[in-house]
Amino acid sequence: MTAILIDGKAFAASIREKVAAHVARLKADHDITPGLAVVLVGEDPASQVYVRNKGKQTVEVGMASFEHRLDADTSEADLLALVDRLNNDPSVHGILVQLPLPDHLDSDLVINSIDPAKDVDGFHISNVGLLGTGQKSMVPCTPLGCLMMLRDHYGSLSGLNAVVIGRSNIVGKPMAQLLLGDSATVTIAHSRTKDLPDVVRGADIVVAAVGRPEMVPGDWIKPGATVIDVGINRVPNGEKTKLVGDVDFASAVEVAGAITPVPGGVGPMTIACLLANTVTAACRANGVDEPEGLTA
Ligand code: NDP
Repeated sequence: MTAILIDGKAFAASIREKVAAHVARLKADHDITPGLAVVLVGEDPASQVYVRNKGKQTVEVGMASFEHRLDADTSEADLLALVDRLNNDPSVHGILVQLPLPDHLDSDLVINSIDPAKDVDGFHISNVGLLGTGQKSMVPCTPLGCLMMLRDHYGSLSGLNAVVIGRSNIVGKPMAQLLLGDSATVTIAHSRTKDLPDVVRGADIVVAAVGRPEMVPGDWIKPGATVIDVGINRVPNGEKTKLVGDVDFASAVEVAGAITPVPGGVGPMTIACLLANTVTAACRANGVDEPEGLTA
């Protein structure tokens, strides 16, 4: 068998189109321009690239983009004061503080100082609790993107066996909650899981979010299963480097029914879902109908 490739690039483009259409309607019918504020502290090169891409795509879908670049030695008090200003700024509907923050700043404190209604990353403890109890929340972007791809592939996830490898707060745990919310039977695996290959072999859906290059080989995959590879790992490739996922694509593609490639799978969905969350937040803040298909 050769798996169907789930094209995250094309899917993300379709999400951005939906977001842009809804933004246009919000402007025309309600005079609302959704706004996303991104806060970057310090000069981490990877974070700078992410922030630039987020700003560019925000503007492309017709939203307002506010970038706040702060020095690496910014004090916690100054950062909290900025978040407070953004919380109280009606032109800002989404706030994202780019992680990781420099060591002297308490990430949990900063994230939990964001107004939960503007927490478009879905990391605020209130949103974590709302998601865990099946209530309307802001959902973390990467797992939301994975859920959208799975729903698109299957229609209903009800009763399917899903294994999520990884239990981080930003991917593994919210992914498991979302799958449970869609009535999948969910197992969360991690570094202490016994007989991981056997656990994975029982899965109709495998979500790999580990951060270990090509850790999951094809012979762990149940024939016909759907494989969502969240991993982004840079490995040597001759004199250069290349990106690979947590799944050994070459062997997995021969066994799986459908699979996301790396790059071009989950990666592009993350920013698309950030834009989706921002338009959702703008609708909720103004009591306007939310776009369909862009939330969990
Ligand atoms: P973390 O390092 O926070 O979590 C990794 C998880 O993998 C942990 O729960 C850990 O278990 C588990 N793990 C580690 N080794 C093993 C093993 N040998 N067997 C089973 N489980 C193991 O990573 P993140 O969740 O933040 O990210 C995971 C991957 O996804 C990374 O490659 C990251 O770059 C990528 N990523 C991609 C995004 C995208 O946009 N596509 C967005 C976010 C992340 P334990 O808890 O026991 O230590």
